[in-house]
Amino acid sequence: MPPRIDAAKCNGCGTCDRHCPIDVIELDKGKRLAVVKYPDECWHCGSCRLDCKEGAVEIVFPPRMLLV
Ligand code: SF4
Ligand code: SF4
Repeated sequence: MPPRIDAAKCNGCGTCDRHCPIDVIELDKGKRLAVVKYPDECWHCGSCRLDCKEGAVEIVFPPRMLLV
């Protein structure tokens, strides 16, 4: 599953956009809100969740990743 952004917590800082290695997340500068633009490309590396100081990113890992 791709990351989910909690719009109520996101402050539009853009950190997740800058840190995602493959640009899955893009900051909507007008709305000051992170948007998951390419959900199918997510590697589940966890950087966006780890680096979000607002705790606005949730990642649900696919079951096959939890079995390894
Ligand atoms: S790092 Fe967190 S607060 Fe900043 S834009 Fe991304 S989701 Fe929003
Ligand atoms: S988990 Fe990694 S690849 Fe997926 S959106 Fe976050 S930073 Fe990008």
